Amino acid sequence: MEVKLRIVGCSPAWPNPGGAQSGYLVESHGARVLLDCGPGVLARLREWEDWPRVDAIAITHWHLDHWGDLIPWVWGAMFGPARELDTPELWVPPAGRQLLSEIESRLGRPKMFEEAFRVAEYEPGETFTSAGMEITAVRVLHYELEAYGFRVAANGSVLAYSGDSGPHEGLAELARDADLFLCEATLADGTEEREGSPRGHLSPREASGAFETSGAKRLLLTHRPTERGLDGGYEQVRDGQELDV
Ligand SMILES: [Zn+2]
Repeated sequence: MEVKLRIVGCSPAWPNPGGAQSGYLVESHGARVLLDCGPGVLARLREWEDWPRVDAIAITHWHLDHWGDLIPWVWGAMFGPARELDTPELWVPPAGRQLLSEIESRLGRPKMFEEAFRVAEYEPGETFTSAGMEITAVRVLHYELEAYGFRVAANGSVLAYSGDSGPHEGLAELARDADLFLCEATLADGTEEREGSPRGHLSPREASGAFETSGAKRLLLTHRPTERGLDGGYEQVRDGQELDV
């Protein structure tokens, strides 16, 4: 059986019209891992089944468009349909448990994430196994924030997902010889970002440069505002799309 990728949502930091923010569902041998869980992702998943059956969720970084729907997911686990389901793993960046506990105390509900998920922190560059998939978190460049991309190996196929990143050597390492490189391309040409500060995003041309260095087989662009358009020669994902990796 192949590895399937469903684009749940592919909006950038502000949503595209009618769109969900970052959420990418990977399925292999009936096991499912959701890469990122931004606002709109849970509602979209619930259009397909009463409550999403996922074995694990993995978060690339703590900008809200990549994890915001974990909070309504918790309420569904405590008071809604997810009460009846197995508890998914939740893989977060290093020191993520501490961050979650600070959010819990602000929300007045200590341990809410630990009740809804089996929370674990991944280590930079170290492969962990989840739902039968081998996942490696590779450090990328996202302003001053600690951020990762995921390399997911399953059933002989490799998917690389950039998360959010500016130009960085980690991207080519992440996508080395991958079957599919799902790479962000938020910017028009890169000149939008402030000079003298760390970069945070890529233009299509920069994404394509990382892809060519990596030797990956196919490039798909994501996390792109609709108003920026995209000229010919690039493939861009859309919400709801299903692909073979
Ligand atoms: Zn983002």
